[in-house]
Amino acid sequence: MSTSSMAPPPPQPANAVNTNKAHLDPLPPSVFTLPQTAQLEALYTIIRDKDTPRGDFLFYSDRIIRLLVEEGLNHLPVVKKTIQTPTGSSYEGVGFQGKICGVSILRAGEAMEAGLREVCRSVRIGKILIQRDEETAQPKLFYSKFPPDIKDRYVLLLDPMLATGGSAIKAVEVLMEHGVPEERIIFVNLIASPEGLKTFTGKFPLLKVITGWIDEGLNEKAFIIPGLGDFGERRYCV
Ligand code: URA
Repeated sequence: MSTSSMAPPPPQPANAVNTNKAHLDPLPPSVFTLPQTAQLEALYTIIRDKDTPRGDFLFYSDRIIRLLVEEGLNHLPVVKKTIQTPTGSSYEGVGFQGKICGVSILRAGEAMEAGLREVCRSVRIGKILIQRDEETAQPKLFYSKFPPDIKDRYVLLLDPMLATGGSAIKAVEVLMEHGVPEERIIFVNLIASPEGLKTFTGKFPLLKVITGWIDEGLNEKAFIIPGLGDFGERRYCV
């Protein structure tokens, strides 16, 4: 048979390689990434692409956010709980130990609120706005609103992009000033820079970080590389 009549070879599956550890090795023990599957890498490829239309950006970033929130909930403590089933049997299971709330770091973190509400019915959500102080160049608290009993809750702190870590650090400081212990905070994040993660986890080794992907680094404008650009702009600007 002549080679010209042979069908071209089928495309090879491009399975995701876990590039994360290469960008931050060793991973701090408090950092948990989503399983680096081919599906997850495909979702990230869509939202990173500068030509992805806004509708697709919303849809696919929401899918990743949902996975992140579910993973965050896996880190909440549970206690033994025995219940009766309709068959008259007793079942020894578990129940969540404490109350939770979400706190979004404005404005990008607001995009993660819906994902949390989808899985936690009637969850309380606080907000915190941190911006760079023009005089000191340090992150400054501009606004915060929390559930009144926040100190008794586990807090899922929501921010999609962890760049230098400045805002996240300030947000945790504010939460701790409101009586939330560090170990009851779970930071939920879409993309982290290795620099930001190192600074953040170095300062707060007891809080857990759930991130979807750890990227290569930061550019001179403190954007994550390769990243996805300005998350707020891609999400909110039509
Ligand atoms: N915030 C963003 O939206 N993108 C980055 O790359 C860094 C911070």
